[in-house]
Amino acid sequence: MHVPYNYLPMQFADYSEIAAGWDQLIKSSEFTLGSFMETFEREFAEYVGAKHCVATNNGTDALILSLKALGIGRGDEVITPCNSFYATTGAVVAVGATPVFCDVDDRYQADVVDMAARITKRTKLLLPVHWAGASPDMDAITALANEYGLEILEDACMAIGGRWGDRHPGTFGKVGAFSMHPLKTLNVIGDGGMVVTDDDDLHAWMLKYRNHGMVDRDHIEFWGVNYRLQPLQAVVASTMLRTLDERLERRREIQGQLDDSLADLAPNLLVPRRDPRNPETVSLYMVLAEQRDKFLDHLVASGVEAKVHYPIPLHLQQAAASLGFGPGSMPVAEAQANELVTLPAHEYLSDSQVDWMISAIEQWR
Ligand SMILES: *Cc1c(COP(=O)(O)O)cnc(C)c1O
Repeated sequence: MHVPYNYLPMQFADYSEIAAGWDQLIKSSEFTLGSFMETFEREFAEYVGAKHCVATNNGTDALILSLKALGIGRGDEVITPCNSFYATTGAVVAVGATPVFCDVDDRYQADVVDMAARITKRTKLLLPVHWAGASPDMDAITALANEYGLEILEDACMAIGGRWGDRHPGTFGKVGAFSMHPLKTLNVIGDGGMVVTDDDDLHAWMLKYRNHGMVDRDHIEFWGVNYRLQPLQAVVASTMLRTLDERLERRREIQGQLDDSLADLAPNLLVPRRDPRNPETVSLYMVLAEQRDKFLDHLVASGVEAKVHYPIPLHLQQAAASLGFGPGSMPVAEAQANELVTLPAHEYLSDSQVDWMISAIEQWR
């Protein structure tokens, strides 16, 4: 049996609803900005419970736009976990600020005690990541930010459809950033991203910056850029948003099944601790396995397309060489990087595929 990692051929096998939306869009000629994009912005703001949404061309630009809106730049330190996707740190560097890494906990999320220990006079922002679709302890991070008078920007790229307590990821800080890359929960046919905020002034500034700083066709207020989401993708996003909750429910069912079955395999295989405050999006279903590379070979030979996210933490990347971290700086994340395995756990797996994967894992010695 084959247990595929890639769900896109299944997800988009029937794209008639998207095609019908594109048909309307093409007839309208609203090919940049316009009502299709604005409709999606309203739908998404409502979905996460924020006042405003600004749609961007990808998640990386959503992060850069957020950082710029918060006035983060040269000389500012931004504390962020060392185990995210590259874009979180890349965005900090892109605005001229200095990334300061913190270690992670047994849920692969930012360790808030370590985050606190890295605050200096130059710290301006906490940049937690809702890594893998789970959330860091947003109660503790909010308390820490308040104690030191810091802003929070959440990288919620993987967490669309999740919850921390009764709130959606990305709504704890002044701004939150999201991605619609094909491998995220709310995905489009290409790239897309969003920033959400409750702040009217930040919203007005981001709308202008996203569109060249324009106030109207003949006037710019300041120098901006073009970060606009393609309306073609807004149509896909609106369509996918309608079925997101239902699809995530199936993912959580698979997550529960895997958690229960794999708990028996400890300590050779460790399922992360789950927090009852945090219904996850299961963007990456990760476990820690002893002799990871052999385990991975065994799974792949059994037809289970497992992956590793990621074998090298951010602070040990060549790009981070000048930041002053090295082997041993982040002991928990470094140990995890040697043992992490990501299993397919998407909503298009059948019960028999999940059972097959569980037996393949159980057979491993
Ligand atoms: C995907 C992702 C990004 C970048 O989003 P893009 O849309 O690919 O630019 C940033 N941070 C995290 C945590 C991500 O998973």
